[in-house]
Amino acid sequence: MTAEERIAIAILGAGAMGSLFGARLVLAGHSVTLVDPDESHIETVREYGLLLRSGSDEARIELDAVLHPNEAAAAEIVIVLTKANNLLTALESAERLLETSPLVVVLCNGLGCADVAGERVAAPRLLYGVTAAGAVLDDAGVVRETVEGPTYLGWRQPSLQQEAHKLARLLASAGLPADAVEDIEGRVWTKALINIGYNAATALARVRNGDLVGHEAGRAVIESAVREAVAVAAARGTRLYADDPVGEVTALGELIGPNRSSMLQDVMRSRETEIEFLNGAIVREGRRLGVPTPTNEILADLVRTLQDHYGSSD
Ligand code: NAD
Repeated sequence: MTAEERIAIAILGAGAMGSLFGARLVLAGHSVTLVDPDESHIETVREYGLLLRSGSDEARIELDAVLHPNEAAAAEIVIVLTKANNLLTALESAERLLETSPLVVVLCNGLGCADVAGERVAAPRLLYGVTAAGAVLDDAGVVRETVEGPTYLGWRQPSLQQEAHKLARLLASAGLPADAVEDIEGRVWTKALINIGYNAATALARVRNGDLVGHEAGRAVIESAVREAVAVAAARGTRLYADDPVGEVTALGELIGPNRSSMLQDVMRSRETEIEFLNGAIVREGRRLGVPTPTNEILADLVRTLQDHYGSSD
């Protein structure tokens, strides 16, 4: 790769997914800075590099890693991969880095991330999307790729279409399959159905995805939550990329059965969850459009209650 082809990229939120994206982009020859307040992860990356595990392959990757965005070198692209609930704080803390970056790409999961990002990043510089890739942090400084899934990129300002296609090619050439699409909302909503079905219910029942979908009662909760979300999507005119959304979400249990959902992991660690961007968002949109969403309301209310009692003795 020539110096002109090498792109300077900052990853804001370098947990599991940010580290995976960062590692793949460095392996493709780009210059990457990880930005994350997690001291143990960042210090380990600085000292030993980032270890990428994928199948039986391992690669140790040298890259810059900083705890605060003000310490990061100027970037041509900032990729944001915090959890949705940390998005606004992350963007606020990165004002200086974002100001100088021509392109900001928000890939957090859930509904409404583009609106949150739009409060801090002007539309002519903002791409957003959704990724079906998967990763976990096995340890500080150690990321494991779990799924090689597509990333979809979209825009609100049509002038960014070409940039979105360029970025999709850049990601794909780094081993992160990606597409720039006109209908990014449909892709974001289709992916969110999976998390709306599994995340809150597994976090509350404290079971793995397969145990939820494999239980008659658990499966009924998934089906009801997804059915409501599908009705809300229909009411707002959002296209879903699934012929049978409820059946496809439950059938996915085969593949993701052994996993603990990210929300279950969050509540096990007493961390704030993405509930407001998943079931919480369905309830708000449902109210706005007059679509009843009782299952999502109960799931969201119980997760909020659980979050508000972290640390209290029982
Ligand atoms: P993660 O918790 O592993 O990483 C998020 C990182 O953001 C953490 O390291 C945290 O320290 C950091 N962070 C928190 N506040 C910050 C701030 N103010 N500034 C900068 N960084 C901050 O989460 P993840 O699994 O990498 O997920 C990231 C996003 O991708 C989420 O929206 C998630 O739902 C989505 N996602 C994850 C997967 C997966 O397999 N892990 C798959 C698809 C989508």
